[in-house]
Amino acid sequence: MIKKILIANRGEIAVRIVRACQESNIESVAIYADAERHALHVKKATEAYNIGPDPVAGYLNAHRIVNLAVASGCDALHPGYGFLSENPELAHICKRRGIRFIGPSADVIRNMGNKIEARRSMQAAGVPVVPGSDASLAGVAEAVAVAANIGYPVMLKATSGGGGRGIRRCNSETELLRYYERVLSEARKAFGSAEIFLEKCIERPRHIEVQILADQQGNVVQLFERDCSIQRRHQKLIEIAPSPQLTDAQRSTIGDYAVRAAQAVGYQNAGTVEFLMDENQQFYFMEMNTRLQVEHTVTESITGIDIVREQIRIADGQALSFKQDEIKRRGFAMQFRINAEDPKNDFLPSFGRITRYFAPGGPGVRTDTAIFTGYAIPPYYDSMCAKITVWALDWEQLLSRARRALHDTGVYGVKTTIPYYLEVLKVDSFRAGRFNTSFVEDHPELVNYKTSRPARELAAVAAAVIAAHAGY
Ligand code: ADP
Ligand code: ADP
Ligand code: MG
Repeated sequence: MIKKILIANRGEIAVRIVRACQESNIESVAIYADAERHALHVKKATEAYNIGPDPVAGYLNAHRIVNLAVASGCDALHPGYGFLSENPELAHICKRRGIRFIGPSADVIRNMGNKIEARRSMQAAGVPVVPGSDASLAGVAEAVAVAANIGYPVMLKATSGGGGRGIRRCNSETELLRYYERVLSEARKAFGSAEIFLEKCIERPRHIEVQILADQQGNVVQLFERDCSIQRRHQKLIEIAPSPQLTDAQRSTIGDYAVRAAQAVGYQNAGTVEFLMDENQQFYFMEMNTRLQVEHTVTESITGIDIVREQIRIADGQALSFKQDEIKRRGFAMQFRINAEDPKNDFLPSFGRITRYFAPGGPGVRTDTAIFTGYAIPPYYDSMCAKITVWALDWEQLLSRARRALHDTGVYGVKTTIPYYLEVLKVDSFRAGRFNTSFVEDHPELVNYKTSRPARELAAVAAAVIAAHAGY
């Protein structure tokens, strides 16, 4: 039985994993860089260890982290998302050192982390993939030839890409020639690999992904889909489950594809199969994420299944405690990624001290965050500072509840994406559940909201509140 887990991460996802440990009477070990000494995951875990002065390097040092897991008596390690979560080396080192890695095998992580390999495996399994190149490009001449074959527009993509980076749409050969080197160098810098490939650009697609769970006994189930079409620069902003844009027949088709995909690669633990749906309602496999996803909360809300708890049970060798037909969904859920960014200023990151913070509450509202009043958001990590997930029995109620929950939330001291989301909630096509990945681009006017109270006044209120609470 797993008794103690090292959490190789920080921020809200580390807190989320601690919570799952607490509910299962499992001890948790946090790691933190100097700058994070007072972070919430450090306070909440049963033990915490400093991993050095560099804000990032310690979280990326697989050998050192696994040493720490062994030395602190852990029997398992949870990688969260980002950092080393999709690094096959970490899974491999864990295995060698007798630490159970809460995720799939190193081989599966390696295969699926390479988008070309992943496409190949899916084609072999009979899952439709986005038309594209079947090997990384040897050079710009080959790119031009492949693109001419596929037809413009095309997407240039980093083979080992992630987090929405290393992706560039090219509408013509001129653009392909212009962007080729740029994507190559971005891939090299961000992912340490200069491999890139080409895909057909699907016009105005919906991003639909399926959550799967697979145990070590060979059982694979899917927990329905999430619609992550509301994105900015290929990064998700709002995620919804189930998708308001699918019929039950389409839902079952895509669910079957995802299960087939997982079975084909011998997948274990939680994973996500991402698809694009084109304007003719055809699905195309895009990639598989071999880890817990930021937006797992919406799936938890509609199914009642604690995905992190299941991840731990699976890593522990336990069989899934439910069958596919026992997984029921109820209502709709929507997650908002609250980023410390200024929507009015091209979403410029807005790091700094949170002078006042109120979490939303009430029926159907869940908050996942690591911020608190007085916490300073460090500039070294990504700008997502909270996730607000709202659940309701039906779509109309969900929209009202989402607006209420966002109004309920108070994050002062930094700019956030909350006012932007309140504008999104007013847009007719969004309210009608009809949108695609161009939504944000198609609605540039949404950043012209009025700030309800002047910033100066808020700063004064915050200062007064902090003064009144000094010493507590
Ligand atoms: P999700 O699919 O779970 O929504 P994102 O794509 O938003 O995940 O990524 C979650 C976090 O992980 C972000 O901080 C992102 O920058 C980081 N990330 C994801 N994939 C990679 C990768 N291949 N390399 C580096 N960072 C990544
Ligand atoms: P990452 O690994 O960074 O998450 P993905 O391959 O999942 O990269 O793509 C991220 C986003 O980029 C998608 O959600 C979609 O909006 C857009 N995208 C990727 N490939 C295509 C494509 N072939 N056609 C249209 N949009 C695409
Ligand atoms: Mg993706």
